[in-house]
Amino acid sequence: MGKKVAFPFRHHASLVCPEAKQMLRDAGFELICNDTGEKLSASEQHEMIRDAFAVVAGTESYDREMLTGCDSLRAVIRFGVGTDNFDLAAMREMGIQVGVIANYNAVAEFTLTLMLSALKNYPRFDMAVREGKWSRFPMRELTGKTVSIIGYGRIGRRLSELLSGFHTRLLAYDPYIDEEAARQRGVTPCGFEQALSEADVVSLHLPATPDTFHIINRDTIARMKDGAYLINTSRGSLVDEQALYEALTQGKLSGAGLDVYEVEPVTADNPLFSLDNDVLSPHCAALTYETNYNGGIICANSIINVLNGGKPVYSLW
Ligand code: NAD
Repeated sequence: MGKKVAFPFRHHASLVCPEAKQMLRDAGFELICNDTGEKLSASEQHEMIRDAFAVVAGTESYDREMLTGCDSLRAVIRFGVGTDNFDLAAMREMGIQVGVIANYNAVAEFTLTLMLSALKNYPRFDMAVREGKWSRFPMRELTGKTVSIIGYGRIGRRLSELLSGFHTRLLAYDPYIDEEAARQRGVTPCGFEQALSEADVVSLHLPATPDTFHIINRDTIARMKDGAYLINTSRGSLVDEQALYEALTQGKLSGAGLDVYEVEPVTADNPLFSLDNDVLSPHCAALTYETNYNGGIICANSIINVLNGGKPVYSLW
């Protein structure tokens, strides 16, 4: 019996490509998959990963309790990039390698889609025409605007490349910014205050951590430019939704583009969903055929690397 790779997340069958699974089988792994179509309970998940060598993980929790007793576990590869569902300190302590995939093209493209849709209020045109209404109103142009990218990692950097054609003034706030990488892309590194106060569009690309919880709140929104737009394709916990709702209804902000929410999956009673100056999507920014295929291959290569004494392709340490 070969070493095991577990796929506990219910969407693995539609997301992880067969080629990646075959690479793992060819490397001698036995694959243990959640084919129930349902989210596993914590005890079912623990049972599945207990004697696995590696796990390909979704958004299910990997806290200390879940990992305790998983003595063969050497690698957890997130089929995504957000690791807020991982206890990274416990994983490091237990000698588990942690990796992610690369979905920055998909998310950067989708961020640009939401940004343009919000500035054009595009969904309202689409809805009106479908209803047989000739509803026309002026929009905003992105060209020449100041865009602040908060969190200048992989997605932030790719977004700045995509935005360069719009002749925007680009600011980036990131405490760990690679200034050279920023300047090469025509981006000016700046402090948080400047990123808030000078931007026509603020776009969030930082991780969800205790430090970044509600980084956009009543106070920080007040310091944003009147009439600015907020785009969030990172994590819902970064934004105080009540404060955003007030800003959108009181005219402080002109609009917002949101892919992520404080509560997911969403329910229809979220007050933000009743507004006509926000553009919404269901946490799907990374969901492209290209990312799914490449992500699967990255997972397989990461696990094979760890088997051979190396590191995951996009290793967290
Ligand atoms: P990354 O790790 O490459 O970049 C994150 C950047 O944020 C880093 O450069 C880091 O220094 C910076 N940062 C950390 N704390 C900060 C702070 N307090 N203020 C400003 N910057 C800070 O990650 P990435 O691949 O660019 O992804 C960014 C985020 O996008 C992820 O954390 C994830 O939550 C989210 N994401 C969402 C989707 C989606 O489907 N909507 C898909 C992928 C990623």
